Amino acid sequence: MQMNDLLKQYNTIQEDVEKRIAGVFQHGKFIMGPEIEELESQLEQYVGVKHALTCSSGTDALLLALRAWGIGPGDAVFTTPFTFVATAEVIVRLGATPVFVDIDRHSFNLDPMKLEKEITRVLKIGVLKPKVILSVDLFGLPADYENIKSIADQYNLKILEDGAQSFGSSLNGKKAGSMGDAAATSFFPAKPLGCYGDGGAVFTDDDELYKILKSIRIHGQGEDKYNNVRIGLNSRLDTIQAAVLLSKLPILNQELDLRNCIASLYSKKLQGVVRPPSVEEGYKSSWAQYSILSQNEKERDLLKNKLAEAGISTAIYYKTPLHLQPVFNHLSYRENDFPIAEDISKRILSLPMHPYLTEEEIDSVANILLVTLKHTAN
Ligand SMILES: *Cc1c(COP(=O)(O)O)cnc(C)c1O
Repeated sequence: MQMNDLLKQYNTIQEDVEKRIAGVFQHGKFIMGPEIEELESQLEQYVGVKHALTCSSGTDALLLALRAWGIGPGDAVFTTPFTFVATAEVIVRLGATPVFVDIDRHSFNLDPMKLEKEITRVLKIGVLKPKVILSVDLFGLPADYENIKSIADQYNLKILEDGAQSFGSSLNGKKAGSMGDAAATSFFPAKPLGCYGDGGAVFTDDDELYKILKSIRIHGQGEDKYNNVRIGLNSRLDTIQAAVLLSKLPILNQELDLRNCIASLYSKKLQGVVRPPSVEEGYKSSWAQYSILSQNEKERDLLKNKLAEAGISTAIYYKTPLHLQPVFNHLSYRENDFPIAEDISKRILSLPMHPYLTEEEIDSVANILLVTLKHTAN
């Protein structure tokens, strides 16, 4: 059993996908074809924002937003150490400094209580200028934007939502992608809304920011193609990938409902055995991952091995929190700097999760967990 089953999804949309891709071959506008604009307008509607700008990946979406705000050397960007490397990578790539903030032990997302402490610490030292809060909606669950927003307002910081895993989720009815001053998402195949290659998008209500994003996406172009006003990127989404996403967007809500049912089933079967993920009132997860917490690292690895023996894939997101990754050595973080992120990284395990899991498959995963833990308890 795989973590994700894209072939099962393909079987449900094959006819439409093939028709749309053939359409692209016919009109031949492989770069910035009409599907791009059609997709962007559908994404705007879905997320509930004024502007959606598609681009070549989730990583570039983050980069585009930070770059459009002019983030660079001397700037502090506050973020979580418990995320995929891209979140912090883009900050360093622009010459700015990631300032990590520990996570909440239930949501696994950036803890607003600790955020304020870090901001005041950075202000007191006086070397870096606090600029952006880059919060991640981990595993599909939106971060605590109510509290993040009040801190951002207090210290005059921008919020960039890393919604690479959370497309389709919501907080108090507001969709992921609409939480911050700008948001980034990813269309990497395994994300809740994935294409058949790399892709991403930036969302914002800010007209001025949108203009700059649009320019940076295509080589910093000005009034026309051959008028260049800033250093940009080549960060367009391929028309073919836009065609794929136009096929997948209409089935997304149905798929999210299925993911929700599957998550509930898992949680019901695993009650009292391992700690299932918690989803607080007002939050709706897009269940990019369904991740359980074991008692300790030994137990986690045992469960992983037992599932593997039965042919069931699992994944550990994330085994090493970013502050302990060699690539960020220059930031001089140490072990125990973020005890919660470090503890969770030793105990977390993500189980197979996709809309097309059957109840028998969920049962077989749950049973192995049950049996294994019963044995270790004796
Ligand atoms: C996947 C992911 C990204 C990067 O997206 P790509 O499309 O692979 O570049 C960024 N942040 C998080 C949290 C992710 O999960």
